[in-house]
Amino acid sequence: MQSIIWLFGGKMRSRAYRRAQLAKRKKKALKIYPQDKNATWVNHLQGCSCHMCGNPRKHWKEKTLQEKKADEFERSFDKEIPEH
Ligand SMILES: [Zn+2]
Repeated sequence: MQSIIWLFGGKMRSRAYRRAQLAKRKKKALKIYPQDKNATWVNHLQGCSCHMCGNPRKHWKEKTLQEKKADEFERSFDKEIPEH
């Protein structure tokens, strides 16, 4: 059980809690996209994947922000001067 909690990175929450959070997100989604009555994008709020909103790797063959950050993080290890 402890390992499962660790796996999901935090507390195990009740069904009621998750439902309440979902309702909260739905409310927010409806506020942002009033035309989307079923709140289809309730989990991510991304209602579009055009060249401006979508993944830059797909449209421009460019790295995404997260990938750039990961590269930078990796490079920071190479620069480190060894102890002497
Ligand atoms: Zn778009």
